[in-house]
Amino acid sequence: MNVSSLRCLRCHGEFDWDGEAYLCPRCPEGASVGDAGILDVQYDYKAAREQLFANGGLASERRDVFRYLPVLPLEQPAELLPAGGTPLFGVRTFAQQYGLAAVLLKDETREPTRALKDRATTIATARARKLGHTDIYCASAGNAAISMAAFAANTGMRAHAFVPSDASEVRLGWLTRLGADVRRSSGDYDQAFAEAESMRERGWYSRNCAFNPVLVEGKKTVAYEIVEQLGWRAPDLLICPVGDACTLSAAGKGFRELAAMGITETLPRLVGVQAAAVSPVVSSFRGVTLAPRPDEQAEAETAAASIKVKRPRNLRRLLSELEQSAGVMIAVGDGAIRRAQQQLAGEAGVIAEFTSAAALAGLERLAEHESLAGRTAVLLITGGRPDD
Ligand SMILES: [Zn+2]
Repeated sequence: MNVSSLRCLRCHGEFDWDGEAYLCPRCPEGASVGDAGILDVQYDYKAAREQLFANGGLASERRDVFRYLPVLPLEQPAELLPAGGTPLFGVRTFAQQYGLAAVLLKDETREPTRALKDRATTIATARARKLGHTDIYCASAGNAAISMAAFAANTGMRAHAFVPSDASEVRLGWLTRLGADVRRSSGDYDQAFAEAESMRERGWYSRNCAFNPVLVEGKKTVAYEIVEQLGWRAPDLLICPVGDACTLSAAGKGFRELAAMGITETLPRLVGVQAAAVSPVVSSFRGVTLAPRPDEQAEAETAAASIKVKRPRNLRRLLSELEQSAGVMIAVGDGAIRRAQQQLAGEAGVIAEFTSAAALAGLERLAEHESLAGRTAVLLITGGRPDD
């Protein structure tokens, strides 16, 4: 394993690798909700690069996330539901309409539970089993919990899902079918998160992404795949919906690692998209931000349940990644997301969930703001579970 240490994103303290570590031991826990001392896994990248590329090409013949094992916090692959290895394909009509050289979809709807979350769950489940845990838990409005429950079902672990009061009945139904212990909070996602973390004392393993540092490591593999699928080149733009801020910042980390190892020469601009009704990262970012078109109706609520997060827990991480990539944050109305969802279905044949369609709505808004001529954009289609 090439892990060298854990670094706190808040106080920048450096700590020895500890497979059971969650938040920074030095930063006071809960000092400010949404700004805990989240740890980041560091590697010996020279050794990692040598192991990734043996005999001139990529050493691994695996097609799942363990293809990139030298940059993961695991000694060996685990036999789990196979996550990763999703297709990347171009949609010519999108490129023409928005004036780019290419618009590519990274189709995470093909994951085992139809969501990118499976990449993170893979690493969490593998670590939990290695450490001998029988119980795993998370706070989630749906996709992360369903992913956790499916991997637990497949390996005989017990899954405990802490869901907000407004969680969808359809998703709750799947959690039950997958055998999860469902604990419905009387409050929102923030409250469910706090209730979940109080269960750590029981010895349950946490699958909360902005808490357990290994989850981001699974999510970052999407950047490795994109770069490999583009012939070891980074795209110009990577566009992704933003809720807790984990996925886009994880991709940003992956792209930075690839550049640091000398595998790529450039970093993509990270483009985060939030629903206008709940857009705290757009408000916090000091770089380029775009509001919805003036003629878009301002909504008080959003149907984009998977990104309806008022206090993004990985905000600090994402703001740093956005700065390092000269990124953009965009707020779009639900009307624009609905049109994008229709366009993904009608023109690309892709069944994206409502939240995931925000990526295309973000591209539309960005293309109105500036010329994207000659650029290649990758849209992360993060999930494909049919909406209620
Ligand atoms: Zn710290």
